[in-house]
Formats: sequence, structure tokens, C-alpha cells
Amino acid sequence: MADEISKAQSARPGGETIFGKIIRKEIPAKIIYEDEQCVAFHDISPQAPTHFLVVPKKPIAQLSDASCVDEALLGHLMIVGKKCAADLGLKRGFRLVINEGPDGGQSVYHVHLHILGGRQLSWPPG
Ligand code: AMP
Repeated sequence: MADEISKAQSARPGGETIFGKIIRKEIPAKIIYEDEQCVAFHDISPQAPTHFLVVPKKPIAQLSDASCVDEALLGHLMIVGKKCAADLGLKRGFRLVINEGPDGGQSVYHVHLHILGGRQLSWPPG
């Protein structure tokens, strides 16, 4: 986790990201769901028994760059996330997270939803 935070502190918006490569199938990922607007796949470094990401195909770098035209897309990510969570058996609940910027711990500058579940998650987060 410390490694993830140090990545987030040095990561900056702009340019190509690993998620663009996953969307274009240039590198593999464990894809759970895909439609014309987004793709959901398992996080490569899971922080809970189930940890997946929902990523829009539109390359919005971070939530603070989203605008009113993205409202439906951002809502769609949540609906896809909760459907995937149900399909993956997260009956007792889950957590949905968007990390924003260096303080938020964002390391990949292509906006994405984290969905974590399969264990009791603590609060407040670190
Ligand atoms: P964030 O720190 O919120 O930007 O989240 C980026 C997430 O992407 C982290 O949880 C990473 O483990 C995850 N990640 C990075 N590269 C890959 C990859 N190739 N496949 C799946 N997840 C990845």
C-alpha cells in the first residue's frame, strides 16, 4: 500500500495510461464486463478478496476533469459496478471508491471506480 501511495504522489495527469491499453486490448486484463461505454476488470493488486475497477472508454483523466456532459456516463459506471458486484456474489455489501489526485491516492490518470468487497471494510479509510 505504501508503494501505491508513493506511485500516487509521483503520478501526474496527461498522456497514455495502462487503462487505455487494456481498453484497446493491447495488454491483458481479467475482464468481468464490457459495453460500448466502459470496461470492468479485476485490479492487478487486490486490496480485498474482490477488487475490481470500472473504467469508462472515454479518457477522462480524473474526476475533477469531468463535466455535466459526463453525468450519464459516471452514473452508468455505478450501475455497471453494482451489477458486477452482484454477479460476483458480494451479497453483504461492498465499497465504491474514486481516488482523486495525489492526496486522494490516484496513481492512474484515467478516471475509474474501485469496487471492493468480500471482507469487512474498515472506516475511516487510511
Ligand atoms: P488509483 O491508485 O486509484 O489510480 O488506482 C489504480 C489501480 O489500478 C490500482 O489499484 C492498481 O493496482 C490498478 N492497476 C494498475 N495496473 C493495472 C493493470 N495492468 N491491471 C489491473 N489493474 C491495474
